[in-house]
Amino acid sequence: MPDSLITSEVDFDADGKQAGFLRLPHSVHRSAYGWIPIPIVTIGNGDGPSVLLMSGTHGDEYEGQIALTKLCRELEPGDIRGRLIILTMANYPAAEAGLRSSPIDDGNLNRSFPGDPLGTPTQAIAHYIEEVLMPMCDYACDFHSGGSSLVYLPTLLRGRGQTAEESRKLVELQQAFDAPYAWVFTGGGGRQTTSRTSMGAAGRKGVISIMAELGGGGSVTPSVLALVERGVSRILHSVGMLPGYRADAAKGTRELRVQGSVYAYGNGLFEPYKDLGDDVETGDSVGAIHHPEEPWREPTEVPSPYDGMVLCKRVPGRVQRGDCVFQIATDFE
Ligand SMILES: [Zn+2]
Repeated sequence: MPDSLITSEVDFDADGKQAGFLRLPHSVHRSAYGWIPIPIVTIGNGDGPSVLLMSGTHGDEYEGQIALTKLCRELEPGDIRGRLIILTMANYPAAEAGLRSSPIDDGNLNRSFPGDPLGTPTQAIAHYIEEVLMPMCDYACDFHSGGSSLVYLPTLLRGRGQTAEESRKLVELQQAFDAPYAWVFTGGGGRQTTSRTSMGAAGRKGVISIMAELGGGGSVTPSVLALVERGVSRILHSVGMLPGYRADAAKGTRELRVQGSVYAYGNGLFEPYKDLGDDVETGDSVGAIHHPEEPWREPTEVPSPYDGMVLCKRVPGRVQRGDCVFQIATDFE
């Protein structure tokens, strides 16, 4: 596969704090020889683990972008051991627009791995992350949220690991992040995965990785942001990168298996009967789709195909057939 056309303004082998851009060549009408500026910060200090922190993989997910932006400004080389690489706006065009997918190519970065160095901008970014950044790293964390259309209970996402060693390290990251919930994938997330997500990219390069779903709804809440900031510091501490950090007592994480999503099977306005964290039983009506265009029509009841707890829910009231309105999870065992 050809080399990436992306060039870096930072030297990944240098110690100290560097800030600049990954330059993705993008020749367009308004800028014939221009490039897309993907912000990057590296902090290096001698021997230690290499860690990649990413946010803005989906541009309308803001909790991680704010937490990592603060980290870029606050962390100094003397605070750490090893090498930290931070992408605050991994899919820069999407993040700049506040959209899930890139407005340039409609690319969804977390469905674009392993990418293509000569493909669309989103495919080129995916390729650079997988082929250039991941191989430098021992750990990778990609911070998501429900974005504009969903809101999640704060949840860490991880695979089970392909080996006992991988499993142990993944559980350590989960315990360090200390979110109230963890979605443990039963497939994917390991070395052999064909996943198009950053977790798949990490797995193919032997990098221990987690993702997280942190609130959402196109907004930011103080409590979730505090949880992310605490979790990031605790993860860096747990892998030996932040020796001076004093981690407080863990609150504990409930491990979940996602049963599946409940989908709208009609168009209209969705009235949820359930909220985040509520329990549902198979066959329960969990909401109704109303038809104000024909107000004499009976609403369409939405049954849950699953038992479990509401882990995420749709935000916009208007739904179309095929929209996810709830995701249902149950205890992992
Ligand atoms: Zn996302």
